[in-house]
Order: sequence, then structure tokens, then C-alpha cells
Amino acid sequence: MIAEIKTLTAYKNCEKTIQNAIPCTGIGLHGGQKVHMVLKPAEIGHGIVFKRTDVTDKDNLVPVSYDTVVDTRMCTCVGNADGVTVGTIEHLMGALAGFGITNILIELDSPEVPVMDGSAADYVTLIECAGIVKQDAPLKAVKILKDVSFDDGRGACVCLYPAEEGLSIDFMIDFAKSKAIGRQEYSIKLSERTFKDSVAYARTFGFLQEVETLRAMGLARGGSLDNVIVVDGDKVVNKEGLRSENEFVVHKTLDAVGDLYQLGMPIIGHFSGVKSGHAHTNQLLRALMADKSAYEIVNLDDYEEALTQFQSRKSA
Ligand SMILES: [Zn+2]
Repeated sequence: MIAEIKTLTAYKNCEKTIQNAIPCTGIGLHGGQKVHMVLKPAEIGHGIVFKRTDVTDKDNLVPVSYDTVVDTRMCTCVGNADGVTVGTIEHLMGALAGFGITNILIELDSPEVPVMDGSAADYVTLIECAGIVKQDAPLKAVKILKDVSFDDGRGACVCLYPAEEGLSIDFMIDFAKSKAIGRQEYSIKLSERTFKDSVAYARTFGFLQEVETLRAMGLARGGSLDNVIVVDGDKVVNKEGLRSENEFVVHKTLDAVGDLYQLGMPIIGHFSGVKSGHAHTNQLLRALMADKSAYEIVNLDDYEEALTQFQSRKSA
């Protein structure tokens, strides 16, 4: 427990946690089991950490980091040295990125985050209900200094490029075999507002033909029309249809926002994803972190002040 959570901070860009603990219940997308989850406030420097309350004989804390990602088949899964894992973290991570929450303890009694409706909308509501607290510590960010990319040699690639401020994202998907999806492109400059209004609502999707294969692999057992857009060739099976024409590519953007937040802090740069998935984004972060000349960790307040001074000198 934390004795006190500070609400006053000297910093414009600061670390953040939530005000109150907040519970929710749902089911695991891949295991199909019922999951109880509680989001809890955490102190400065804590980071984003899962706690498996159903595990009592091993280390049950699983911190989120690009290098604790242990599986990227169909979802992003993190694990610790004792082999304790938490899967399907990406949409919750997207919501944490959207609000800039840097410190939180997420307790759950299952190896999977509840999928809710397949988007990040319910996590946004949960975090807003819990309230957000600014903490008295400067926010750091990863500033991209040079182009870094990961290409899987099969048509999918991801890149990070330098940019002056903030994180912008371009995404492209091309499902030639499915007319219901086809080719879609999406671009966004990430902020709390744009995340909430334009990204959080987009649901995950899958193909009817793949359902049996996935279930044989022990995946998608909790998947249903309540939490997945199911595509059958040129048709969307869900009666209610799509929430937007481009919901598919917006969902891929949500996945990218969540996966990029494995760094635990915002990125100053531009991300481009072409037909990519969780594995590609994680490989990109590993390549970035392995090359010390490709990034620097900056204090965001200092960086923004230096940028403003530089810009006003340029325009003078
Ligand atoms: Zn997703």
C-alpha cells in the first residue's frame, strides 16, 4: 500500500497513477475463463506491473517491459523469471498509454487480462472512474534519434523515425483475400483526446475460417461476437456491423499504441506499421533499445523548453 499519493507536482509533464483502486470482471479472450481484475494506484518509479493473485508458490509479479514480452502469437504476453505470465495486455496498455499512466499495479486472478468488448473503451471508462493523479516526478520520454526498422521479409515491416515532438502513427493493412477489410490506411497524432475519441473504440477482429484452428491451439476460446469482429470473406458476421468503416486499421493502431508503451514512457518520434502485428512492434523496440545511438531518454519538461527556445530563435 502507498501511504500517500501526491497530487501536487512542480512538473508540467509528470508521472501519473490512478486515484482509487477499481475492479472489473470479464473473460479471457484466448482461455475463455472468468477473470477478476483490480487496477491499483502505485508510487513514483513503480512502473506498470501485473500481479497474479492466483499464483502463490512463485513470484507472482510480472513487470511490463519490451524485454519481458515472452509471446506474441495473437496477443502480447509478458512473463517473469519464474515463468508466470499475463497475456492479452495490449488494449489495456493502449489505454494506459492514452492517459499517460506510468505507475499502476494490476491484480488479476488469471493468466489473461479480460478482453471486455475487444477494444480499449471499457479500460478508458475504468481509468476515468478511478481518477488520474499527477505525481511529483518528472516524466521521461524516449526520443528517437535515427531511423530504426524491423522487416520480417514477408511483407510486414515497422519503423520508428525521429520527430520534433509527440508520437505520430501511420498504419497500413492490406487483406487482399477479404473484401470486408481490403486495404486501409490510418494516421494519427497521439494525445489523450485523440486516443479516447478516435482509437479506443476499435475492436479486435478475426476470420471465421481461422476459429477452429485457433481453438485447437488453445486460443480464442473466449472469443465471441461480443468481443471480436468476425469476418467471413466479404462479410462482417456481427449483426451490429462495424463501429466505423476503418475499424480494422484503427484497431491495429490501438495495438501499436499499446505495444509501443512496453517502454513504459512516451516516445518522441513517428511510428509506421505496414501489415504488422505484436511480434513486429516488439522486435522493433528490441532493435531500438539495442542501439544506444538510436535514442536518448529525455526529461520531457526540459526537452519541450529547449524546443520552444530553439523554435523562437529560428523564427526571430
Ligand atoms: Zn488488438
